[in-house]
Amino acid sequence: MKFQAIKGVRDILPPESALWNHVEQAAREVFRTYGYGEIRTPEFELARLFEHSVGDETDIVTKELYSWIDSPKVNRALRRVRAKAIAAAYRAIHNDPAVREELIKEMEAGAFDTLNEVNRISLRPEATASVVRAYIEHGMQARPGNVKLYYLGPMFRRERPQKGRYRQFYQIGAELLGPSDHPALDAEVIEMLLAFFARVNLQGANLYINSIGDRNCRPAYVERLRGELQKVRDKLGADSQRRIETNPLRVLDSKLPEEQPIIDTLPHIADHLCDACREHYTELKRQLALRKIEYEENWRLVRGLDYYMRTTFEITAPGLGSQNAVCGGGRYDGLVELLGGPAATKGIGFAIGTDRLMLSLQDAGTAEACGLQVFLAWFGAATYPAAVDLARKLREHHLSVELPAQEMKFGKSLSLADRLGARFAVIVGEDELAAGQFTVKRLADGDQRKLAEADLLDYLTKSRTA
Ligand code: AMP
Repeated sequence: MKFQAIKGVRDILPPESALWNHVEQAAREVFRTYGYGEIRTPEFELARLFEHSVGDETDIVTKELYSWIDSPKVNRALRRVRAKAIAAAYRAIHNDPAVREELIKEMEAGAFDTLNEVNRISLRPEATASVVRAYIEHGMQARPGNVKLYYLGPMFRRERPQKGRYRQFYQIGAELLGPSDHPALDAEVIEMLLAFFARVNLQGANLYINSIGDRNCRPAYVERLRGELQKVRDKLGADSQRRIETNPLRVLDSKLPEEQPIIDTLPHIADHLCDACREHYTELKRQLALRKIEYEENWRLVRGLDYYMRTTFEITAPGLGSQNAVCGGGRYDGLVELLGGPAATKGIGFAIGTDRLMLSLQDAGTAEACGLQVFLAWFGAATYPAAVDLARKLREHHLSVELPAQEMKFGKSLSLADRLGARFAVIVGEDELAAGQFTVKRLADGDQRKLAEADLLDYLTKSRTA
C-alpha cells in the first residue's frame, strides 16, 4: 500500500527547511532583544478552552476544530453502536429499534458515564488561548513587570486548503500580558514585529491598523451595524445573512465582490468609539509615528476571533494572492478574566503565518542558500581514516561536510559535489597525505590551492561567513 500525506497538510523538505530554520532563528533573536522568552504549550488542550476563548460562534470553533473524545471506554461503546447501525443499514431497515436498544444498553452499562468535558480534546487552532491558560495556571501575574512570551509551532484548522491555507500550518507569535494597556505597549509590539520582518528581509509589507472599541462602546455599534445590515439583508450572501445574527462585525471581513458596495455604506466604528477607546487609538497612532512606523487605517479590520478589543492590526505581504495576510494581532484585555484569571491582566499579541511568510520570502527571491559547504573527496583506501578525521574537524568548526562512504572515481565525485551544491571540494589523496597538504577547490570559479590542515580550517571557516 502506498501512502500520501492527507489533504491540506504537507512536508517541508530541505533545502526549504533551512530557510524555515533561518526565519525561526531570526524571530528568536529579535524577540529576545525586546525581552520576550519562549513558551512551549501542548498542541492539544480541552476543546472547551478554545470554544470558550475563541468563541462558540466563530468559524474556527463551529467548523474547523479537530476534536476527539479521549476516552477508550466511550469510543468502544460508540464503535459497538456504530457497528450495529451499519448492520442495520445493510439490512435496509430504517429506524432499527435494535440500534436504539443497543444504545440504551450501553448507557445502562455506564459506557458513557465518563463522557464529560475532560474527554473532549482539540488540536490547537491558535496559541493565544493556551498561552493565557498557562499564564493563569502558573500564576505568572506574580512575575515582575509585563510577562512577554513568544511561541513557534503548528496550528490545526480544518479549512478548505488552497495556496497559503493549510490544515496544519505554522505560526510565530508573541503575547504581552500585564497590568497596563498603555498604547505604547501596542506600538512596541508592532515595532518588534516589523523589526523581525526587516531582519528576514520581507519586502513590500503593509501594516493596517484599526480600533474595534471595547465592551463599553462596541455593543452599541454592533447593534447599529445589525440594524443597517437587516435593511439590506436580501442583497447579502448566505454567510453574511447568518452573521447578521451571530456576529455582524464579521460581515466587514467579507471578500464577496457583490457585497462590497453595500459594505462601503455601513457605519464606521471609529465614529462610535467611547472617549477612552478614542484616546487609546489616537495615542497608538502618535506612538507609531514616534517610532517612524508607517501604517494605513482600515476600518474594516475586525479580526475573526471574539476576544479582540481596541487595537487590531494586520500585515499583508506580496506574492500571496488572496491569502495575503501574513500576520494578525490585537489587544485582548478581557481574555485572561474570561479564562478565570485576574481581571486586572491585560493582553496584546500577534500571530505570524509562517507558511505564508515563507511563500512571500521565496516569491521575493530572498531565499538564501543554506546548503552544503564542503564535499570531501578521498582517493585510495589508505586515505579514508584521514578523511574521516578531517571531516570531524571541519564539522567541529561548524562547516557542513559530505563524506562519501565509499571511494568514488575523481570525475564522478566532483560532479556529485557540484550537483549537491557544495561550495568547496577538498581532495584527500595519497600524494596530498604524503605532503601533509590538502587540495581545496572552490567550485564556483575553479580556484584551487594546496593548504596544510590548519590553513585549510582557517580558509574554510573564513569563507563560511563571507
Ligand atoms: P489568525 O490566528 O486567524 O489571526 O491568523 C494569524 C495568521 O496565521 C494569518 O494572518 C495567516 O498568516 C496565518 N494563518 C491562519 N490560518 C492559516 C491557514 N489555514 N494556513 C496558513 N496560514 C494561516
